[in-house]
Amino acid sequence: MRIVLLGPPGSGKGTQANIICEKYNLPHISTGDIFRYNIANQTELGKKVKSYIDSGSLVPDEVTIEIVKDRLMQDDCKVGFVLDGFPRNLEQSKALDLFANIDKAIMIDLDDDEIVRRLSGRRMCRKCGNPTHLDWLVNNKCEKCGGDVYVRDDDKEDVVRARLEKQKLPQNVIDFYRDKGIFERVEADETKDKTFVKVDRILSKLA
Ligand code: ADP
Ligand code: ZN
Repeated sequence: MRIVLLGPPGSGKGTQANIICEKYNLPHISTGDIFRYNIANQTELGKKVKSYIDSGSLVPDEVTIEIVKDRLMQDDCKVGFVLDGFPRNLEQSKALDLFANIDKAIMIDLDDDEIVRRLSGRRMCRKCGNPTHLDWLVNNKCEKCGGDVYVRDDDKEDVVRARLEKQKLPQNVIDFYRDKGIFERVEADETKDKTFVKVDRILSKLA
C-alpha cells in the first residue's frame, strides 16, 4: 500500500509512520529525516536546505519534489511506502500524483496548543531518529534502541511558532485528496497506540 500521512508538526505523524511501517513492512520515507541526515553529514543538499529548516520555512518545492521522486524510484518502494511530511502543499501533491498512485491520504490532526506542548517536550534519538516525548523517556534514552536523545533546533519555541504559522496544511491539499475519495482524518489521541488503532482501522481495509 502507498500511504501519505498529513498533519501539523507534532501531531505524531512520524511516530505513526514508524508503527505502520513495522507492522506492514513498508519503507518509511520522511522528508524531514532525509533533510536532517544531509544536514548532519554536511552534504550539498544539507547546505542548501539548512537555512530554510532553521527558520521554520518550507524547503523549496523543486528541491523537495526531486528528492522524493528519486527515493520512490528505489527498489524497496515497489511494495509500497509511507510518506511522512510530504506533500505539504498543492504543488507537491500534484507532482506526487505524476509518479505515484496513492491509496490513502491520512491526516493526523491536533489542535495548536497541544502541538506546542508536544513539540517543546519532543526529543529525537541521535542513533535511529525515533521521535519521543519527555513524558515517555526513561533514563533519557531512546526506548527503541537505547541511543542518546537531543532537542531538534527547530523544536525551540520561536521556531515552533514560525513552523505552525508558515506550515499550516493548506485546505487545497485536503481537497485534492478528498476529491479523489482517498482522504481520511484521524484525531490524534493521547497515546500513540490509541491513535494507531484508528489509523489501522483504515489500513486494514486496504491490506
Ligand atoms: P515536522 O513534521 O515535525 O514539522 P519534519 O521532520 O517533517 O518536521 O520536517 C522538518 C522541516 O523540514 C520542516 O520544518 C521543513 O522546513 C522541511 N520539510 C520537510 N518536509 C518538507 C516538504 N515536503 N516540503 C518542504 N519542506 C519540508
Ligand atoms: Zn533510537
